[in-house]
Amino acid sequence: MRGTGWELPTPPLPRLEGRIEANVCVIGLGGSGLSALARLQKNRVRNLVGIDAVGVAAGAAGRNGGFLLAGPAHFHHRAVQTWGRAAAVELYRLTEARIEEMARRWPDLVDLRGSVRLPGSAAEADDIAAHHQALLDDGFTALPYAGPRGERGLLVPGDGVFHPAERCLQLADRVWDKGAWLYGGDPVEVIDGTTVRTAHGEVSAGVVLVCVDGNLQRLLPELDGRVQTVRLQMLATEPVAFGTAQHAMYHRSGLDYWQQRPDGRLFVGGCRDRGDGEEGDPVQEPTDRVQNALDTLLTDVVGVRARVTHRWAGLVGYTPDHLPIVEEVRPGVWAAGGYSGTGNVIGALAGEALADAVSGRPRHPLLDALGAVAG
Ligand SMILES: Cc1cc2nc3c(=O)[nH]c(=O)nc-3n(C[C@H](O)[C@H](O)[C@H](O)COP(=O)(O)OP(=O)(O)OC[C@H]3O[C@@H](n4cnc5c(N)ncnc54)[C@H](O)[C@@H]3O)c2cc1C
Repeated sequence: MRGTGWELPTPPLPRLEGRIEANVCVIGLGGSGLSALARLQKNRVRNLVGIDAVGVAAGAAGRNGGFLLAGPAHFHHRAVQTWGRAAAVELYRLTEARIEEMARRWPDLVDLRGSVRLPGSAAEADDIAAHHQALLDDGFTALPYAGPRGERGLLVPGDGVFHPAERCLQLADRVWDKGAWLYGGDPVEVIDGTTVRTAHGEVSAGVVLVCVDGNLQRLLPELDGRVQTVRLQMLATEPVAFGTAQHAMYHRSGLDYWQQRPDGRLFVGGCRDRGDGEEGDPVQEPTDRVQNALDTLLTDVVGVRARVTHRWAGLVGYTPDHLPIVEEVRPGVWAAGGYSGTGNVIGALAGEALADAVSGRPRHPLLDALGAVAG
């Protein structure tokens, strides 16, 4: 019953052995790191190395809910209040455009079926109304949605779902074909200047891009306190009746979420507030407490009784202000991570922003948007 519901045979990568040189070394082969490598290649930067502790999509990028939601980790009204309208609108606009681009680029993997926010309480219904109004005020598309029990929800028709692991594998294939060297099987133990060391080898790089969401602060201890690791858990069921979840569904402000795959299976995640030790230094393993709460979510909220086939967990990075880290942390060492639970879209932008920053390209609009954050 363990293992992710995404079930992809991930080909093993060669182990880094001995000393090699690279113009850029990217650490982490999830959606962010692979997007960085693809962008570096587009920017015509040669001699690229990518390293992962395990392999392609071994972390959250291959274990997540598969939601593609416009906006950063804060809902739009909260983002406007907290960061100011200019930054909030630009972050929403960039992520919305990025989802459209992903749908064009990966038509077989992306399904723009819309997302639905359902209220978990009366107070949340009011918050949804404010969320809805803020989107309309800024010209974004949002529609009212009546939940199965008559709840007043919010439908964002441009949002969608995708197969996160398959997209990483396809990206890895492309960057490999274009000449990047990819290694796996050993974690990076230390970044010394711009030299990256594993147990069996080292990369002497011009620049290092650390594209790691969960446990980012382990590789870059100076980020301790600015980002913390959080465990998120999911389950997958056997196929159930089609139409059980027609959109990417979430409630309790996104703490719980579910979607139905094209083969009829339900993927259900969340309940981290029902767990114990989900924050701090968790291991990437499902726990009974959260999985029991997910079982209850499945029957009581999703409204389905079905056999559970998979249970799994993944690690992500949360920042106190919910803004991602996308910056040069040390001379020649850049970091992207801390997406606070929603890195599928903004993570791709962050990886590209780092790639542009180190290849002499104009400043990426994500950095402008983050730079416009008030306060
Ligand atoms: C259960 C769950 C559900 C989620 N649902 C959604 C969702 O629906 N929508 C959404 O947008 N986001 C979701 N997220 C968050 C999203 O998955 C992440 O934010 C995103 O995948 C981050 O991508 P990444 O490439 O930055 O990091 P990761 O996918 O974590 O990739 C980092 C890679 O770095 C490697 N690594 C780590 N340490 C080292 C080291 N020392 N040396 C070498 N390699 C190392 C790891 O093996 C991993 O492959 C979810 C996450 C989880 C766990």
